[in-house]
This record gives sequence, C-alpha cells and structure tokens, in this order.
Amino acid sequence: MSVLIKGGTVVTAEWMDAADVLIDGETIGAVGAGLDAPEAEVVDATGRFVLPGGIDVHTHLAMPLGDIASSDDFYTGHVAAAFGGTTTHLDFANQSKGESLLAALDEWHARARDKACIDYGFHLTLTDVNKAVLDEIARLPQHGVSTIKMLMAYKGRIMVGDEDLFLAMRRARDAGILTMVHCENGDVIDILVREAVASGHVAPKYHALTRPPQLEGEATGRAIAMAEVLDAPLYVVHVTCEDALTRVREARARGSRVTAETCVQYLFFTADNLDTKGFEGAKWVCSPPFRQGKDHEVLWSALRDNSLSVVSTDHCPFDFETQTVLGRDDLSRIPNGCPGIEDRLQVLHEAGVNGGRFNLQRFVDLTATTPARVFGLEGRKGAIAPGCDADIALWNMEAERTISVKTSHSAVDYNLYEGMKVRGFPERVYLRGKLLVDGDRFLGEPGSGRYLHRRVVRSRNSHHERGR
Ligand SMILES: [Zn+2]
Repeated sequence: MSVLIKGGTVVTAEWMDAADVLIDGETIGAVGAGLDAPEAEVVDATGRFVLPGGIDVHTHLAMPLGDIASSDDFYTGHVAAAFGGTTTHLDFANQSKGESLLAALDEWHARARDKACIDYGFHLTLTDVNKAVLDEIARLPQHGVSTIKMLMAYKGRIMVGDEDLFLAMRRARDAGILTMVHCENGDVIDILVREAVASGHVAPKYHALTRPPQLEGEATGRAIAMAEVLDAPLYVVHVTCEDALTRVREARARGSRVTAETCVQYLFFTADNLDTKGFEGAKWVCSPPFRQGKDHEVLWSALRDNSLSVVSTDHCPFDFETQTVLGRDDLSRIPNGCPGIEDRLQVLHEAGVNGGRFNLQRFVDLTATTPARVFGLEGRKGAIAPGCDADIALWNMEAERTISVKTSHSAVDYNLYEGMKVRGFPERVYLRGKLLVDGDRFLGEPGSGRYLHRRVVRSRNSHHERGR
C-alpha cells in the first residue's frame, strides 16, 4: 500500500521546502516536487507542514518505584506520545540490585511488548555494578542496546559511586556504547535532604533548596573529567542550569565527545512553582529540580548554539491524588518525575519557533534528527528521506489549542502546562506508513509498536559534529 502526501511543506533538519512525500509500505519511497503515483492514496497536505515523527530519548513508562509505578504504561504513554507527534521513544530498563542487565532488559520487554503502539528502544540503567555486570556490558549491542545510564544521585537507592561510574564508562567505551549520566552530587544532596527533613522542612519548595545548581554543575564536571580521561563518549541527561551548561560548553570547546540534552519542562518552570500553595507544588518535583528564570534564557541560547543538542522529556508521571500525596509529610518520599511526553513538541514549538528563538528546521533537529543520530537510529528514524521509516506528522501551524489535562491522554491527573495556549500541533500522525492519529481519533493497536535494535555509534569529537 502506498500513500502520497501532496502539497505540503516538508521540514527536515537540513532544508524546508514545498515537496510531496511518497510512502511505500512502511518506509518513505520518494521525496520531491510534483510526485506522481497513480496507485497511491492521496493525502492533501496543502497548508500543512510535513515533519518527521518526534523521538523522545528519555522516558520512564511503567517504572517501578518502591510500591508504586509511574502512572503511564506502554499503552497510555504511547497513545499520549502519538497525539503529541512523537512516534519513537527510548525508555530506561533499570537494573535492580543483584540483577543481571539482560534480566532487566527482559523485564522491560515484557512491560512493553503487548502494549506498544509506537516504536521504542531501551537504555540500560546500571544501579549495581560488579564484575559480572561489567562483563555484560559488551553483550548489550547484540540485544539492540547501544546506551547505558548511570546516576550520580539518589544515594542508597540507584546511585553509583565514582569508581563504578568510571569502570562502567570504560567498558562501555570499549563496546562502542554511549554512557548517559544523571549529574548531581548525590552524597551532598543526601545530607541536605536528611537535614531538611529532620528540621521539619518537608514542603515541596525544599526539594529545590536541597539540590542546588552548584551540585549539578560539580557532578557534570566530574562525569566529563572521567569521560575525557577515558576518551569515552558521554551524554549528559537533563541539563537544567548555567553551572552544568558551562562545563558542557567548555568540554565541547575542547573537542570532547560530550553531548547534552535538556528536558522541555526546564524551559518553562522555576523553583517558585514548587512553592505553590499547600502541597500542590509537589506536582513540580523532579530531579534535578526547576531552577531560576535566568536559567531559561541560558538553556534557550544553548539550544541555538548546539551546546544542547536534544530536547527530551524525562516523562515519568505520578498521579497527584493517589501517588504524589505519599510524600505529603516527607519531602524525601515525594515520587520524583513529571509528565510531558504528549506536550513536548507543542510547547517547544510554541515557545521556540513561534517565540522566535529558533526555526522549524532546528526544532526538527532537536526533537528528531539529532536524537536519531546520537542514539543509533540514523537512516531509519528522525528524517523525511527515502529509505527512512514513514514516521510522519502533518502539522497545522495555524490552529490553536489550549493545553489541559481534560484533553490530554496520559494516565495522570494533572498537566504542568494547564491553560497554555499553543499555535501549531500535529493533526495526522503516521507510524511506518500507517495512520496512527487522525484528528482526535487514535487508530493504533496495542502490540503494533516495534522494538528498535539500535546500532552502536562511533562518535567523533564535538568539533566534527555535522551542522547546527
Ligand atoms: Zn530520567
């Protein structure tokens, strides 16, 4: 079956122009002006923009946390993603204490397999590093995993120390695997949180006060130093502030193989949101925490100059009324994480493109093309080009909508962007040539999303990175 998307404006990271797109089965057969395909179903895209489906490289669906789990599973999370124009995501398979990496991967496959309706891959999060685990790292690429992650925060739970971080990063380098790191100084934060709780400082606002930006900056510098000593590639997840960004900038200026992302919510919210009346501020508890207004402009400018190369979400929703409330009397028990998988593209487009901060091509680059390249999906995802999967979103840039939990699809009872007006959103979304979203109708089926075997990427240093 073929589909001809006619009369739209195609947007890629490299160019934007009037062009037709021929979908041939699951992939894109041709892109060009005046395409003809008598057999094809013709879709009139006049006045619409034809973008590659978004790729969200940082999500946590159905993530167990103590006795609860993040509230979106691989069905509801995928439906939400699809309505937002995202057709691929990479989630984290978290190793439990004493567990093998491949066992963790199997667990996450079981969570996703029968529910998935968009395409997905897994990073492997190491939480308990030992010799057997180090030996396992080299086997991950055979299973389609080309990235590992470690956290320098959450002491006593999933944090790894410097020794383990260094050893695992070295093994990852040897296997061509990219190491992703959550950079915050977990030792110091642990002291600050315990002291805050002991003093009765348990309100959500203390979440930000106990995780100051200097501790993100310091840890970012430490992870970068290890990566430089090893000449290993490093991906810094969710950069939130100038302290961290300065380290990333300096490393990239030195030519180090350091890539960094921010998550979309860090462009919108501040520590003041945590101080919302009553316990309401807990809706904004995520780590690293929201910073100050001045950090927003620093992040926007980094998205322009490519110090930040990817915008993801760290989507990890917890239902306020039934889950977040567990931390009402103890700051340290508020589940960390915010929803955003559905909103990412629309709010970034509104503030980034409509706001005049960067153009549509850069928007596509940050949310689809560079994520594909960095994470081993280049040539397959993240671009409108012959041979790529036909993951396509038709955007109406004139239409307006007000974001609300009432019309959102995530299984969570609030939306951080409640009341925000956006102009421009995806009306039709295709996954591998099949129509997944048509207006407010969802046409996907559980189990139709596909696991992505990702390639190992031999990254060069940041001086050689293509384009902006
Ligand atoms: Zn995360």
